[in-house]
Amino acid sequence: MAFNPDDIEYKKLHFVNGEFRSDKDSSFDYIRPSDQKKLDSIPNASKDLVDETVEHAQQAFQKSDWSNLKPRQRAKLLFKWADLIEKDVDYLSKIEAMNSTRLISETSQGDVFATADTIRYFAEWADKIEGQTTASSPNVLSLTIKEPYGVVLGITPWNFPIVQVAWKAAPALAAGNSVIIKPSEYTPLSIFRIAELSIKAGIPKGIFNYLLGEGSVTGSYLVNHPGIGKIAFTGSSATGSKIMADSALTGLKPVHLELGGKSPQVVFDDIQNIDETVSKIAAGIYLNSGQICTSGTRLIAHKKIADELVEKLIKIGSQKLPGVTWEDKTSLPPIVSKKQAERIEVLISKSVEMGAKVISGGSWHDTNYGGYFYKPTLIENVTQEMPVFKEEVFGPVINIDTFDDDNEAILKANHPTYGLAACVHTSNLNKAINLSKKIDSGMIWVNHWGYPDEFSHPAGGFKRSGIGKDMGSNGINEYYKEKAIWIPH
Ligand code: ADP
Repeated sequence: MAFNPDDIEYKKLHFVNGEFRSDKDSSFDYIRPSDQKKLDSIPNASKDLVDETVEHAQQAFQKSDWSNLKPRQRAKLLFKWADLIEKDVDYLSKIEAMNSTRLISETSQGDVFATADTIRYFAEWADKIEGQTTASSPNVLSLTIKEPYGVVLGITPWNFPIVQVAWKAAPALAAGNSVIIKPSEYTPLSIFRIAELSIKAGIPKGIFNYLLGEGSVTGSYLVNHPGIGKIAFTGSSATGSKIMADSALTGLKPVHLELGGKSPQVVFDDIQNIDETVSKIAAGIYLNSGQICTSGTRLIAHKKIADELVEKLIKIGSQKLPGVTWEDKTSLPPIVSKKQAERIEVLISKSVEMGAKVISGGSWHDTNYGGYFYKPTLIENVTQEMPVFKEEVFGPVINIDTFDDDNEAILKANHPTYGLAACVHTSNLNKAINLSKKIDSGMIWVNHWGYPDEFSHPAGGFKRSGIGKDMGSNGINEYYKEKAIWIPH
């Protein structure tokens, strides 16, 4: 599947009311992650275009056939959209890999299909949402109905661009809302194809829209717009907090937030197959070069097996081949941007100054590609005061810690501020259950790392890791408000 990235055509346009639009207010540079080549100047959607888009999305919500359509009919159109996306795998997987840090080997086998299947999963919910009849006097009918919010704003990150569009747009649309997506300015090029296919599938004009632009410009205009009915956000904890504060001050818009993490991978000495476990731990920290909110960034290993785990993890890391996303052989993708690369350097060097010890990696691969490729890195002697403990690094960097007994494992697994995901590796069912209950994280994965393929798994965290859930029945319910109706008779 390797390809020439310069052969891939794209549109640097916004998509409003079924049409591609330009806007000349201001622009930002799009720099391709793999080779750090400045590919283009991309327009920020201006305040005027934001106003216009919200207006169209409101009109479409009120007047188009979408929210008034029979739910099964909505589902049929969403299924068609998913089929078209899947059929477009050849092109979509290439533009997604060219545009981001996702490897062509993964976009062509995984991301495009996950995007389509996410849409299908939520399409199936369209006619299965139910309200309730509630206890009331004999001469009263009291019930609730669930209704869409109106215009949903989905703000998405750069690490899984098209998958994240589906995570936000599919449940919102299945519930009958109209949608405006604001993709990350680091990966703005693949969403146009998803939009083209939405029109081909028959989704009415104005129901699915997107606006390109920087977070502090276009993103901020959108968040503060009074016409937005609900905000769904995935990104960093700092930006999530700002969006929540802004939306509270401009209409108390409901938000749900999928934010950062500092997820532990706890490994007991009773695991049956150490190689199998290590390969899961490695996937948890090396996939997408650790640029995933659920990356398992803290290995907490039983003292008896810690050395062996570390040795094997270093070996797997040393076999990762840095390279551009459009080559099949690459297994270590680039760090997304110069800014992110500099951030990794600072977090690690400050921690080393404070006494952390890098036992493997800790520097950049020397390549001719132009991109930033950080070596898989293991760090010991990490304390709670250090930046590599307190902050997400968003690189292939794992802290190593050990424990003697279950209580110590639980104490160390629980991070003071983050609580997104946690992995527990053990063959003892009691330990698995005990830790699942005592670790304060939104998702616990036993003998596993990563979102399961089943889309029913509610994804989201606690504490600084977020509010609310994507996916599953919780995920679809984020896109409805529930109205109580009281009818004396
Ligand atoms: P990163 O810095 O890694 O891009 P962010 O959490 O800042 O992570 O970005 C995630 C998404 O949030 C992106 O689409 C970005 O443009 C958007 N964003 C950033 N700041 C704001 C803001 N103040 N208001 C709205 N959206 C924002």
